[in-house]
Amino acid sequence: MSPYSERKKISNETFWGSGDRLFAMASPLKSLGIDDNRYQKSFQLFLERSSEHQCMQNFIHNTLPDILASIGDGKSHLNVIGVGSGAGEIDLEMLSQLRLKHPGVTVDNEVVEPSSTQLHQYKVMVSQKPNLDYIKCTWNKMTSSEFEEQWRVKKMTKKADFIHMIQMLYYVKDPGATIEFFQSLLDKKGKLLIILVSGDSGWGKLWRTYRSQLCNTEISQCVTTGDMKSFLDSKGVSYQSYELPSQMEITECFTEGDEKGELLLDFLTEVLDFSNTASPELKAGVLELLQHPDCSKESNGKVIFNNNLGVIVIDPQT
Ligand code: SAH
Repeated sequence: MSPYSERKKISNETFWGSGDRLFAMASPLKSLGIDDNRYQKSFQLFLERSSEHQCMQNFIHNTLPDILASIGDGKSHLNVIGVGSGAGEIDLEMLSQLRLKHPGVTVDNEVVEPSSTQLHQYKVMVSQKPNLDYIKCTWNKMTSSEFEEQWRVKKMTKKADFIHMIQMLYYVKDPGATIEFFQSLLDKKGKLLIILVSGDSGWGKLWRTYRSQLCNTEISQCVTTGDMKSFLDSKGVSYQSYELPSQMEITECFTEGDEKGELLLDFLTEVLDFSNTASPELKAGVLELLQHPDCSKESNGKVIFNNNLGVIVIDPQT
């Protein structure tokens, strides 16, 4: 058996681009992930309507530098792994902060990203940006569990100084095991950075209330930093954590038939064409909850959803 088919067999993680198993869900609702075009549209609108990337930028400029300063143990070459990097904007911001804290260092940057569109955009950006000669990128067009399998098959012994997984643990089958694997790759003084929505965000409330009806449990789409902290506590793993305030304007969701509102609702529920395929009861319940003070506040006639993010920073195993 070729290593590739072996890997495919063992890897039972669903990349959101492949929908066969999502169709098999008992619920008639379809996952937004099966329609990449609509997903990308709703994700772009989410970025426009939210302070998601601004809030990450603030963290990267104000808090991350001290964390990055502590890694590497004085080495002149650092190994970085980005898991679910998307188009890489956030990755390159972090790498430039890393270089500021470790002038003269060279970086081996392993990128793990299953979407060829995203990976292509990342490559284009790297080829166009000046002054990136210190970074050597290795492109791994695969899911995190495929990467893990490849690492094991090749019996890799390389250790990493900085690993990040930003807004990606929703897409793996077992987020806890994924964290444990990547933690095991950390060199001494390495750091593993995780960003997800906060358990105290509107997302957390929405998911706790409608998990069974909305979430594709097979790939655990509803995980928050609150869940991950409980997991780490139960394993006795120590970590630092931060809360990043962020907002998303969702006013249009409450205008029946509004095209942008419908796209935002798809993004919030991760359901394809939620407005037209959910039962009237579910739709009414979700819309009511989205306006509830547990999820949103009203300001100048606008509905502002709590999009707070959580950050977890983990040290190597001792
Ligand atoms: N880190 C980026 C992108 C987050 S979107 C940012 O914060 O802007 C989530 C990313 O995870 C997407 O690019 C998606 O293609 C990728 N992804 C989806 N399933 C994955 C899996 N199983 N393993 C690794 N990455 C995955």
